[in-house]
Amino acid sequence: MESEAHDPIPVLDLGPEIESIWQEVSEVAQRVLRSGYFVGGPEVQGFESEAAEYLGVGHAVALNSGTDALVIGLRALGIGPGDEVITSPFTFFASPESIGIIGATEVFADVDPESFNIDPERVEEAVTPRTRALMPVHLFGRPADMDAISDIAQRHDLAVIEDAAQSFGARFGPDSKFRGRQTGSVGELGAFSFYPTKNLGACGDGGLLVTDDPDLAARARLLRDHGSARRYENETLGYNSRLDAIQAGLLRVKLPRLDRNNEARRAAASRYGEWFADVEGVTAPRVVPGHVFHQYTIRVSGGRRDEVQAALRQASIGSMIYYPIPCHRLPVYADRRISMPVTERLAGEVLSLPIWPAIEQAAQMRVVETISEVLR
Ligand SMILES: *Cc1c(COP(=O)(O)O)cnc(C)c1O
Repeated sequence: MESEAHDPIPVLDLGPEIESIWQEVSEVAQRVLRSGYFVGGPEVQGFESEAAEYLGVGHAVALNSGTDALVIGLRALGIGPGDEVITSPFTFFASPESIGIIGATEVFADVDPESFNIDPERVEEAVTPRTRALMPVHLFGRPADMDAISDIAQRHDLAVIEDAAQSFGARFGPDSKFRGRQTGSVGELGAFSFYPTKNLGACGDGGLLVTDDPDLAARARLLRDHGSARRYENETLGYNSRLDAIQAGLLRVKLPRLDRNNEARRAAASRYGEWFADVEGVTAPRVVPGHVFHQYTIRVSGGRRDEVQAALRQASIGSMIYYPIPCHRLPVYADRRISMPVTERLAGEVLSLPIWPAIEQAAQMRVVETISEVLR
């Protein structure tokens, strides 16, 4: 017991998943290496059609990263300088970065303290005559309030591009008019990331843009390949943002197992939730239907978050703070001087704990015990 108590617990362990598919992944790697198709090609097309079917969308365009999916999505919508896009200040930098990099203006709307997702009331307040699109983020794998967000979009004639980088496989719950549908599939566009730590992770960078609109899909395909539908006939300034065949092949092995893995994450989250129920000072995330727990993120009240994290470190337990600096407070936006009180409070309270599909109950128990000892 004593020695076991000191085994380190990482915040994420990618080992068990790759071990469980080693044989198939090895075969895919050999198939791709022998095929001579390394960028794009049949493996990528195969993945695109399987992903489109899984997500329930008409078109899926494989790209080099989730960031590119956002950038190319915004460009495909025709958004540029002078346009405003509303997004969350409590997200990974790539969400607002994608808006600024194409010359548009990122406008932040504060989040809801319980879901960590953009608050529709704040979105409504942020709409101006220049607003062109809304970019909700399904943070940590929890579906954002798309009923309200799509209402606002409809009323103001705005496009919606969902940042679903953290929510591959998440579905809207029974109370939503989108019930049962996948996050990323209900806006004009949905952007996904296959960064290795995401729920559907590649062994390198990768991304996907999905839509039901054939024109948007065609535009995205054009942009990912230097603005050319036909080689050497470049129609516009684009990007080099194609997906590698080896990543597509790996993702084709992983996609059929995603639901089971997400289910296992949800079960792990439920166990944490039960065990945290009587730990005072900890607010555990609600296990809402369809949430895929890309992160399991608690709130620690009373200014004791850093103390809790130090105790975990002492016990060789990994944890992360997503995100320590609200986007609007990043050095790059130093001139903004805006205040987003909910996000600012969350940045001082949140702590993401170890979670992956095969995490063992004993490890989770140790995490909870270590935290409850500090807060007792
Ligand atoms: C990971 C992530 C991205 C960017 O994806 P990359 O593949 O790393 O470029 C965008 N938005 C959010 C919310 C993310 O978590």
